[in-house]
Amino acid sequence: MKLLSTWDHGLPANDAALAILRAGGGAMDAVVEGATLTERSNGQRSVGLGGLPDRDGIVTLDAAVMGDDARAGSVACVRGVEHPVRLARMVMDRSPHVMLVGEGAQRFAREHGIEVRERPLDDEQTSKWKAWLKQGLYAPVINVENHDTISLIALDDRGSMAVASTTSGLAFKMHGRVGDSPVVGSGLFVDREVGGAVATGLGEAVLRTAGAAAIVEMMRAGRSPQEACEALITRMIERVPGAESYQVGVLAMDYQGRCGAFSVQQGFTYALADGSRNTLHTAGAALQIDGDIERAKRVKGEG
Ligand code: ASP
Repeated sequence: MKLLSTWDHGLPANDAALAILRAGGGAMDAVVEGATLTERSNGQRSVGLGGLPDRDGIVTLDAAVMGDDARAGSVACVRGVEHPVRLARMVMDRSPHVMLVGEGAQRFAREHGIEVRERPLDDEQTSKWKAWLKQGLYAPVINVENHDTISLIALDDRGSMAVASTTSGLAFKMHGRVGDSPVVGSGLFVDREVGGAVATGLGEAVLRTAGAAAIVEMMRAGRSPQEACEALITRMIERVPGAESYQVGVLAMDYQGRCGAFSVQQGFTYALADGSRNTLHTAGAALQIDGDIERAKRVKGEG
């Protein structure tokens, strides 16, 4: 068994997912459980209903799951749902569709017994939103709470792989904005012949490079998970301008359990667990924190 999860909150998420795997559960159950734990965590400002709101002061959530049987479920821009990752799984299991958004996703939730209840912003959400409104600038602070999606990859002992992600998205986004996290092929992707990949960070950059699917396809073409992660980030820096001021981190795993991790900026942490250990690591990065584009161009990858 093996698990990879984004950021520091990947450690407790991995523990929750490991408990499922140790009890004989599958990779899909494990990633949903790990993501659910993060959604529930108090003080988590980029996942779940405690996440930072959009610029209208509304918390909207995105989540998705995908298994290596090519089944997937996703919800985007949902309000008042405590566990959007469970709703995403329900879309996969109980609807003929892959993705439901907004009011339609909320109606589907209600019809399937999931409570939809918006809650007022707490003091911290309110004060951060009001502080942002004073200037109203979209300038995400690298590695800070504006982008800390939990994304997970699990490989179970039966050799199945699954991926999941859940987020409140970019803080203070325009109402209706959807990032990469619920988009199959951008924020997450898995293919049974190759392996899986997930992303976190500025969703616009990941969407514009079809991040997770691109990593999986580079692995299919023969790159290791690490090489594929580095190549995607290098491509992103070249294609999506302004890399010195955005952060994206990616993780990948193949069926041998080989793992990859890389990011645009330094400071992207991830948790790696196997049957015996669950440890936090810092991914290599293409740029120094001050944005060393020349160094990025030398990163092994696209060559
Ligand atoms: N990728 C997410 C988004 O753009 C943000 C994050 O990773 O925290 O919505």
